[in-house]
Amino acid sequence: MSPEFPGITALARPNIRTMKPYSSARNEFKGTAQLMLDANENPFGSPDTGFNIAFNRYPDPLQWELKNQLSRIKGVPANHIFLGNGSDEIIDLMIRIFCEPGKDNILICTPTYGMYQVAAAISNVEVREVPLNASFQLDLDAIAIQTDSNSKLLILCSPNNPTGNSFYREDIEVVLNNFSGMVMMDEAYINYSRQHSFIRELTEYPNLVVMQTLSKAWGLAGLRIGMAFGALDLIELLNKVKPPYNISTVDQSLALRALQNPQTVNDWIQQVIRERNRMQTALEQFPWVEKVFPSDANFLLFRVSDAYHLYDYLIQQGIVVRNRSTDPGCSNCLRITIGSESENTRFLDVATSYQP
Ligand SMILES: *Cc1c(COP(=O)(O)O)cnc(C)c1O
Repeated sequence: MSPEFPGITALARPNIRTMKPYSSARNEFKGTAQLMLDANENPFGSPDTGFNIAFNRYPDPLQWELKNQLSRIKGVPANHIFLGNGSDEIIDLMIRIFCEPGKDNILICTPTYGMYQVAAAISNVEVREVPLNASFQLDLDAIAIQTDSNSKLLILCSPNNPTGNSFYREDIEVVLNNFSGMVMMDEAYINYSRQHSFIRELTEYPNLVVMQTLSKAWGLAGLRIGMAFGALDLIELLNKVKPPYNISTVDQSLALRALQNPQTVNDWIQQVIRERNRMQTALEQFPWVEKVFPSDANFLLFRVSDAYHLYDYLIQQGIVVRNRSTDPGCSNCLRITIGSESENTRFLDVATSYQP
């Protein structure tokens, strides 16, 4: 497919490789101080006294407490974890680290998550779209044909949004073995998947980075915490390029508290999977449903006779779903998020009265 992977640092843009990162007061000093007079902060506290956390100090730029807790949950050493202000920040940083604007390109396999294209467009980086095949699996030949020496990043979303399926593990391994740039696995929906995470393959593939988020199964979309797991060289580059205080004190401490409750999250995941199966079966019974695509995520993509007509009907009934009809390979397809049992029942009741 292409030459050997040159190594993470060699792959990075030369200006990123050689630049000196910003050194914040909180970077330079570690330990417990008696007098913090290094960061031009307000010594008195914060005027809002409703919280029992003080916000007058800058947050830990490297979020060690949160990373240590995530390390226990994910089985990855804390220094192999990077935290972004949502996955969206990590996508942006990856493009900016590796892709020279106007010269390099990234590969994505469409239909997929829209933010990859937006982030690349902001950085003036070319996006090569490689369509998935008819079963929404990777087209390995097409990926090889679209790859050239300026292809620095390939993003695989598995389970994929909006199709819901996971890619075949063997196909992903072929890509990891042959692509000479970075391969980023976006595992935002991994908690709902029958496939296990590629986290355990990190030591196997030097060009692999695995991205997850607290926004979906963990129920913390409002906190904006995305995670990247990868080699030390990669984490170092991400830390170099990120805004120094990219995760606020509040977000760090609330996420840390939420991570004490993994059992609640596991219960929710089980409920979603049960409801996903129920919704799949129920949708398949409607005569106007042509196909419900298999899902490893907390949503279902399904094809109907007239997606716009059904979408409008649902809106009239106060139910919002996502019309994906303009995505490649998704004509007349709607994407529905799996809600609570009563929400799904309400949807099915409304759908039962639908006149196509
Ligand atoms: C929802 C979603 C994310 C999460 O993004 P955050 O910025 O972490 O909230 C990432 N990737 C995909 C494919 C998603 O659907």
